[in-house]
Amino acid sequence: MPSIRSDETHDPKRTSWVVSARGHAEFPVQNLPFGMFSPPDEAPRPGVAIGDEIIELQALIAAGLARDVPGDLRDVFATPALRKSLRTQMSHLLSNSRYRDTAEPYLHHAADCILHLPATIGDYTDFYVGIHHAMNVGKLFRPDAPLLPNYKHVPIGYHGRASSIRPSGVPVVRPNGQTKAPDAEAPVFVPVKRLDFELELGVWIGQGNALGHPIAIADAPQNIAGFCLLNDWSARDVQAWEYQPLGPFLAKNFHTTISPWVVTPEALIPFRSPQPPRPEGDPHPLSYLWDESDQAAGGLNIELGVTLSTEAMRAQNLPAQVLSQSHARHMYWTVAQIVTHHASNGCDLTPGDLIGTGTLSGPTIDSCGSLLELSDGGKTPITLPSDETRTFLMDGDEVTLTAHASAKGFVSIGFGACVARILPAR
Ligand code: CA
Repeated sequence: MPSIRSDETHDPKRTSWVVSARGHAEFPVQNLPFGMFSPPDEAPRPGVAIGDEIIELQALIAAGLARDVPGDLRDVFATPALRKSLRTQMSHLLSNSRYRDTAEPYLHHAADCILHLPATIGDYTDFYVGIHHAMNVGKLFRPDAPLLPNYKHVPIGYHGRASSIRPSGVPVVRPNGQTKAPDAEAPVFVPVKRLDFELELGVWIGQGNALGHPIAIADAPQNIAGFCLLNDWSARDVQAWEYQPLGPFLAKNFHTTISPWVVTPEALIPFRSPQPPRPEGDPHPLSYLWDESDQAAGGLNIELGVTLSTEAMRAQNLPAQVLSQSHARHMYWTVAQIVTHHASNGCDLTPGDLIGTGTLSGPTIDSCGSLLELSDGGKTPITLPSDETRTFLMDGDEVTLTAHASAKGFVSIGFGACVARILPAR
């Protein structure tokens, strides 16, 4: 990883003339994530989140307030220099009150806007690097061999489905699926009963690589355009019946929800951390996956959370219940190792491709990133403040994922919500 230093855009003393950005838990002026949004009844366009507002990028060019602002986010994904320039310009513009009068007309209330996917996602791959999740799920599916022998040598992944990825807020229709209870004689095709969420980080690919040209691990960071939250909705009853021998298919591809703002690697510079050392006795990764600077700063200091609200809870004005609090440190492989491994056979990654890390559970029950783990495979229901219980998701349930990065001496930033509600099967 190239030497990366914080700069004036991370200065904790820098504040914005956008009042809602001051002390904002997600989008203070130190964050500046980019995305695609539509003002009411208007076409999609690129913007940057600032507090409770969105600043419209292209209009700033005409107004003489910015230069080299792309009309197409593809360039922002593919070109690190452009992304950095955009960040520097927006930080300057939004923190200097002399620009307030001229720039303010280009702010839109985020609550009035529609957020879109930030990219046309060519390909989506989901990894499995949350080692506590892999252990917990392994125990449920294979009590005799929870962690398969390849896990500590290879970042395990599978090719997911890009077409069914939606931004936060789009409801999830409970899928129908073929399932077979262990004691049933024959399978049935019914609305799935064991509907679950998975708490993951998403990684946006930047410039990518040409077919046949692997990405060296030292070059992996410059191929990463940003991060989001990712909920890999899962039908556990379908998964248990279909997954052998080729892995997840219809249990996973009916819907994936992501937070729509791209939190850039530049915004996350203060929140890099050493990758936790491998436990004693674990194998040393092969050299193509090993880079000392990646081990020194390839981790992410990001706190993760999951909350649930049910129809009954909302009717009683009860706040959403915290189900889990986890952390990105539970990744057994770094993001650079994931990207490098993906391209190691020459597979080409392209701008706007999306990679999921896999469920990021912690070592304790209150840090598990799926209901499968929280309810011990459906055996131990969770009691909610409404006195309802849950093993898996019911219709009307709303799941929210959150991510916040913090470090001493810096302003904390967030990813914005990754939320969706379950609708009945059709
Ligand atoms: Ca997953």
